[in-house]
Amino acid sequence: MSSQNHSKPAGGRNLDPWYETYASRTKGLAASEVRALFAVASRPEVVSLAGGSPFVAGLPDELVHAAFQSMMEHHGPDALQYGGGQGLPQLREKILDLIAIEGITDAGADDIITTTGSQHAIDLVTKLFINPGDVILVESPSYVGALGTFKSYEADVRHVDMDDEGLTIAGVTAAIQTARAEGKEVKFLYTVPNYNNPTGVTMSVARRREILDLCIRENVLIVEDNPYGLLYFDEPAPDAIRSMDSEHVVYLGSFSKILSPGVRVGFVVAPHGIREKMVLSVESSILSPSMLNQWLVTEYLASTDWRAQIDTFRGIYRERRDAMLESLQEHLPMLSWTVPEGGFFTWVQLPEGLDSKQMLPRAVTELVAYTPGTGFYVDGRGRDKIRLSFSLPEPERIRLGVRRLANVINEELDL
Ligand code: PMP
Repeated sequence: MSSQNHSKPAGGRNLDPWYETYASRTKGLAASEVRALFAVASRPEVVSLAGGSPFVAGLPDELVHAAFQSMMEHHGPDALQYGGGQGLPQLREKILDLIAIEGITDAGADDIITTTGSQHAIDLVTKLFINPGDVILVESPSYVGALGTFKSYEADVRHVDMDDEGLTIAGVTAAIQTARAEGKEVKFLYTVPNYNNPTGVTMSVARRREILDLCIRENVLIVEDNPYGLLYFDEPAPDAIRSMDSEHVVYLGSFSKILSPGVRVGFVVAPHGIREKMVLSVESSILSPSMLNQWLVTEYLASTDWRAQIDTFRGIYRERRDAMLESLQEHLPMLSWTVPEGGFFTWVQLPEGLDSKQMLPRAVTELVAYTPGTGFYVDGRGRDKIRLSFSLPEPERIRLGVRRLANVINEELDL
């Protein structure tokens, strides 16, 4: 079977004897161009403002031990066994408490499926809806991991304009109309409404309502990805879009940022038909999510004050956000950046003429790393933007990193 429409990776045809055999969809599986640099950036002397890893050291060991112990004491044999494709019922019951905080009070445990992180949920929903060439609308910019998944299913991904309240109505309307004029339907709109990755922007309450009304009118499914919602700094985030409607929204949640990404537990709240298909899809690919991990999270929720721990995380991230914004103000006052009210990221506009991708090797040489804006677009935009993450480094390291970044930018401007 040949696959002529593969774009040829450097040396791929020569080095990989299976090159001609792969399915056409694998052409969407491309390694990030900056991956090699990030490997260098993980050296301890480099201040990395690049990745988006949570500060897991902020989770006291005792809490995790207590959850492990309780799991093995009470549920050992079950935790070591296969489970159902929809996920552990006891965990799905507990997730109801979590989503109630975000205003979702009309769901039952049967409306939920647990997943192997929300990345898995993004994959599931894409697998369910996307044939090659189908249109997905996303924010400008959008989460790089979702874009990668969408590309791996050969979706036609289209960015929609945003303002400081999130996706614009005019942008979504125009994108739907453009697709229809081409004889295509929009399969779904993917949005990260709270503390967006990469921009840190939060969709306003009014905009949530308007986007939902528009999508109901136009019969477009919304995929609401909300891993950061509980990590607000001052005021809680607005209620989830899913809290306003149960039929047009697939809601994705995760324990990665409020507990640990190592547990790889996320979840989906979906309308009945979609949920049924997702369960079948999970069963056909992995049989069931890990019971061990699901029981661990269940016991964590049952045996610890997890709400207080989320408060602790919020305090930690607020201090880091402040350290980052203060040092940007001090060292790079000529730039502009978003002011996130929660989450892990700020999005920085570079001065005219600077190229975030070209500048990265110099930055890494000067022991600071960031993520170039280009990864968050499918269409080559973002060269004038960088994403800075404040979740992992201590405040002093953040300040050092921004000082180094300021040197790099000033040197580039002097060239
Ligand atoms: N969605 C968004 C917006 C994210 O930022 C991330 C993690 N960086 C994920 C989904 C995936 O998270 P996980 O699979 O760990 O739940």
